[in-house]
Amino acid sequence: MSLLASDELMVRSSQRSERLRLLSHSTEPALKAVVLTCADHRVDPAHVLGLEPNDAVVLRNPGGRVTGDVVRSLLVLSAVAAVEQLSGGVEIIVMHHTDCGMSRLGGPEHRGLLADYLGTTADGLAEVPVIDPALSLRHDVAALRALVGTTPVIGLLFDVGSGTVHRLE
Ligand SMILES: [Zn+2]
Repeated sequence: MSLLASDELMVRSSQRSERLRLLSHSTEPALKAVVLTCADHRVDPAHVLGLEPNDAVVLRNPGGRVTGDVVRSLLVLSAVAAVEQLSGGVEIIVMHHTDCGMSRLGGPEHRGLLADYLGTTADGLAEVPVIDPALSLRHDVAALRALVGTTPVIGLLFDVGSGTVHRLE
């Protein structure tokens, strides 16, 4: 009998609870990093970047895109850090990847959905790269840099086929 995913994950979590109990419970991530990346199951930054427990704050959405929701999330995270009097100096890492499912939404039937998601109009989509991950990464890093002032924003491209990560920005 196969387990449901949630049942399987409950078993796995029970096997990890003792290790988690022994970890640092600092509210400050060890690497002082926020990683924004795609929700794709192949792109988990714990696996791709080797993030360990407590290393970084991770935000994920389709494409790892800098959407209005992400900007609002970063504002709330910044407020939480201020309330908790964390030391600051966070680096934001944006990671896009090859073979992203978003690249398959380039047809006319998805223009409305994509425009809404990316905070633009159907005509405005021409200015927002979706198909080429190097272009979408450069676009989003530039957009985020314009919003966050002196906070470093780094752009990484993960090649799913080779398993390698390259720094583009
Ligand atoms: Zn993706």
